[in-house]
Amino acid sequence: MVDYLKVVEAAIGVETAWGIRATGLERRGDGPTLHLATTAGEVQTRNIVCATGAAARPRLPEWATALSVPGVAIHSSSYHYPRQIPTQDVLIIGGGNSGLQIARELAAFHTVTLAVRTRRGHRPLASYASSAGQRRPLFGGDRRPEPVFGDNYERLQHAGVHITPAVTHARGGEVTFEDATTASPGSVIFATGYLPGDDWVPDEARTPGPRRATTPIPGLFVAGFPQYSRRGVDTISGVSADATAIARHIIDRP
Ligand SMILES: Cc1cc2nc3c(=O)[nH]c(=O)nc-3n(C[C@H](O)[C@H](O)[C@H](O)COP(=O)(O)OP(=O)(O)OC[C@H]3O[C@@H](n4cnc5c(N)ncnc54)[C@H](O)[C@@H]3O)c2cc1C
Repeated sequence: MVDYLKVVEAAIGVETAWGIRATGLERRGDGPTLHLATTAGEVQTRNIVCATGAAARPRLPEWATALSVPGVAIHSSSYHYPRQIPTQDVLIIGGGNSGLQIARELAAFHTVTLAVRTRRGHRPLASYASSAGQRRPLFGGDRRPEPVFGDNYERLQHAGVHITPAVTHARGGEVTFEDATTASPGSVIFATGYLPGDDWVPDEARTPGPRRATTPIPGLFVAGFPQYSRRGVDTISGVSADATAIARHIIDRP
């Protein structure tokens, strides 16, 4: 990956400043200059592209901190392979794509329970590129969940995965499901999704409705977030549409 990035840097003539985080952005007065706050100090510039990822930070339920299990309790972003899960029985919270894929892998080695709040529509894996990201904009509310691709709930049940309603709360080693039943899992994996990486962008940039990667702040553009653009841009193939649109906007700016 490092070699690849070096080749890209050389090809397009940019120099990357690694290990620096954007922490805030300000437009003082009506001038064209944007002030970007970073962990290495302030940068003043006319154009800023927020490309910090629509799924950048693990999202955990509020009750996660009240849970204490004998094995491990980890977010799906920290799951790499079955031997990470030291206990025989594991509860996976979340019936989206990550939850299903991890359940499928662990079913061969563990006793797996999958807690599902909303059963999602199913699509063949081959349709991922065309079907992914079909969510309504976050700012407009009414968020439609992503379908699950490849595997589905019925196939997992045939593979021995026990499917339950969502978990509503936890205390100590015990979790309570929506139907008021309880369980004391050996380990827990939170496949509960991600938060967007736009926490450093000012609220005035977040207006309802698709804006094709632009924001109300002149010179601030956002790449790869459906809520600033359109469905599907939070996929590897989809983000290029935002990138191209932003490059044109910047070239055309007075
Ligand atoms: C579990 C999962 C599975 C996925 N599977 C697929 C798939 O099969 N196919 C597909 O097309 N897409 C998939 N995606 C989506 C795909 O990962 C994204 O579309 C793609 O990574 C978006 O690229 P990006 O450059 O916009 O953001 P990212 O790849 O998220 O990069 C954002 C970068 O910004 C950095 N950053 C974050 N905050 C700051 C800050 N404040 N300051 C400075 N830097 C910051 C991060 O460290 C990161 O390097 C998946 C996503 C997830 C979470």
